[in-house]
Amino acid sequence: MEVADLIAAHVVDVPDFPKPGVLFKDLTPLFGDGPTLRACADAIVAAAGPFDLVAGIEARGFIVAAAVAYATGTGVIPVRKAGKLPGPTTTITYELEYGTATLEIPERAGLADRRVLLVDDVLATGGTVVAASELLWRGGGRVVGVSVVLELAALGGRSRIANTHSNLPIHAL
Ligand code: IMP
Repeated sequence: MEVADLIAAHVVDVPDFPKPGVLFKDLTPLFGDGPTLRACADAIVAAAGPFDLVAGIEARGFIVAAAVAYATGTGVIPVRKAGKLPGPTTTITYELEYGTATLEIPERAGLADRRVLLVDDVLATGGTVVAASELLWRGGGRVVGVSVVLELAALGGRSRIANTHSNLPIHAL
């Protein structure tokens, strides 16, 4: 089966989660199926250019990042929500629809001058990827690509990323 068909067979639509009116794509069946998780990691590796380090966005991005890192013999840098990492950290605060959110990366992850592939499970509005890639640049890394399992294309994340990081390759399985 093609990877896109495997993904489609392992994603469940959950209405009204995490709040009324939102249709949440639940990837837990995908993560729970070994061949599908492996096919996703392999397809991300096949589509990406060369990289030295994989950045995964908390929390489901960690699952994808670790699989991609294992497949390529690279390491992982976690992009975490505020307050989870011991210092020193590099931090970014960005706007959400209502309020703000903060992401942090550890300064001890050996980011300087490394080519970083940024991965997450789902690309929606793109706000998280824009903030995470800005953060990785601030931390001294070179973000060379963005890879996600699922892109919710109607939410315009791709063009939002292109507005701030114009030449950044974005790949969705
Ligand atoms: P964005 O910042 O709007 O692009 O949202 C992307 C972030 O929210 C990612 O870290 C995703 O894990 C999470 N996310 C948004 N929508 C969904 C969904 O339908 N299913 C799973 N995760 C989602």
